[in-house]
Amino acid sequence: MTVRWIFAGQLGELFDDGGPMLLIEAKSVLRRRPIHRAKAHLILSAIRHRAAELGDRVEFHQVESYSEVTTGRDDLEVVDPTSYAARRTVRRLGARILPSRGFVTTEEEFAAWATTRGNGRLLLEDFYRDTRMRTGLLMEGQAPAGGQWNYDHDNRQPPPKNAVSLGLPDPRWPVEDDIDAEVRADLDRWQAAGDIRLVGDDGPRRFAATGAEAGAALADFIKTRLGDFGTYEDATLTGDWTMAHSLLSAPMNLGLLDPRHVVETAAAEYANGNAPLASVEGFVRQIAGWRDYVWHLYWHLGEDYRTGHNALRATVDLPREFVELDAAAVEANCLRHSIGGLRERGWAHHIQRLMVIGNWALQRGYDPVQLNDWFTDMFVDGTPWVMPANVIGMSQHADGGIVATKPYASGGAYIDRMTDYCGGCRFNPKKRLGPDACPYTAGYWAFLDRVEPALRTNHRMAQPLAGLRRLADREDVVQQERERDGFH
Ligand SMILES: Cc1cc2nc3c(=O)[nH]c(=O)nc-3n(C[C@H](O)[C@H](O)[C@H](O)COP(=O)(O)OP(=O)(O)OC[C@H]3O[C@@H](n4cnc5c(N)ncnc54)[C@H](O)[C@@H]3O)c2cc1C
Ligand code: SF4
Repeated sequence: MTVRWIFAGQLGELFDDGGPMLLIEAKSVLRRRPIHRAKAHLILSAIRHRAAELGDRVEFHQVESYSEVTTGRDDLEVVDPTSYAARRTVRRLGARILPSRGFVTTEEEFAAWATTRGNGRLLLEDFYRDTRMRTGLLMEGQAPAGGQWNYDHDNRQPPPKNAVSLGLPDPRWPVEDDIDAEVRADLDRWQAAGDIRLVGDDGPRRFAATGAEAGAALADFIKTRLGDFGTYEDATLTGDWTMAHSLLSAPMNLGLLDPRHVVETAAAEYANGNAPLASVEGFVRQIAGWRDYVWHLYWHLGEDYRTGHNALRATVDLPREFVELDAAAVEANCLRHSIGGLRERGWAHHIQRLMVIGNWALQRGYDPVQLNDWFTDMFVDGTPWVMPANVIGMSQHADGGIVATKPYASGGAYIDRMTDYCGGCRFNPKKRLGPDACPYTAGYWAFLDRVEPALRTNHRMAQPLAGLRRLADREDVVQQERERDGFH
């Protein structure tokens, strides 16, 4: 009889077909690199909660490394795991391998779609539309619900003027139990003994660690935040760290929530007249579109994609302020707040990840592989599969345009429009020269100056590069940014 070995991304019912199970908590995984405390806590809590739920049906081992349990076994069966390293291990052991689960589109369906593209680009928009047609999500016959595929012009609005928060009810938080207390004590002990290196604050566990908690988090989001999701998808308010986001990436990536159920639940809200189409479409696009797209690209682009590209020749080591999440040492208000939130919770929303933290790193030429691994270790929802397309591709343009056609670089004007950060900052988003020159605005021009040779043939960069060439004080701005003392 086979035993189903489940991994940390496979902790929900979707990965349980009723037979005996094997679950291994291996300390070596936490030992590899410094890891955010909230992330280590969440993973251990989810593993131990699953072991408790499965009771007699699971062989649960708490060991140093997987091989202590798996070497020599010939009874293992797995749902194909989510990283190259894990796939190598299960193949080496000769485990029986079932197709992966936990995404809206299967690997087989993606491969079939990719072949229809010939040698053309695998565009998110094409993949997303194909998924909608294949699954019938938000479709009316052959046409998209409401007649449009995309509601971006309704979505992505700036935050309401002079608001401190969106005024939505506080999300429903998980209640910690004895398992969490035991995890916290273990982490304290291991850290004190020098076994593991934890970064970030110890706070209440904010993300779901069981299927039941994940279901409750989904229901709470649908009831209180889905309606505003689209409108404020890209907006940021200092006093509202969740905005209308779902906080569901961590439970989905742990395998606790089936993303198909998530998008079907959201689509049903539109069908029942309980949520506006623009918001529901924006949310479905994030999951059935983006989440699946980066998962399939992880396999499609190959294992070398993470380390094999550095198109903008970015070689600066990650600074201490990032490594230690030392927000207090950062003067730029937007970055201080984003790194501070990350330090506190192991989470930041998409615009903080892309347009504040990622944009800062891009402008300053941080090593993309170091940044990729830092994101993986510091975010509660970070996994090996989710990061390369997001960091190497979208955020840092290290792949030279495979994932995104142009770098996500912007000056302070974008941050000023979409957040309330600039009002409380000692810098001025409109200034590129002088003691109050915004490091994003000046950094944008210094970045373009540095990467101009690499981007000269990119037609989407023609306009920004023409702007650079017209800049009367180009040399002064570049010199100023070269001399800027790190984060000040
Ligand atoms: C530099 C960078 C790093 C990121 N790191 C991660 C990560 O470690 N783990 C992770 O799951 N997502 C990551 N994302 C994508 C996205 O920022 C997070 O999924 C989202 O902020 C999580 O919060 P939420 O669940 O409240 O999302 P919501 O805003 O509520 O969005 C709903 C869901 O859409 C999915 N989604 C949206 N965009 C993406 C995307 N680009 N890639 C994958 N899923 C997406 C997520 O599953 C998310 O839960 C990253 C994006 C960037 C630009
Ligand atoms: S002025 Fe510049 S550094 Fe300050 S918050 Fe705005 S964008 Fe960030």
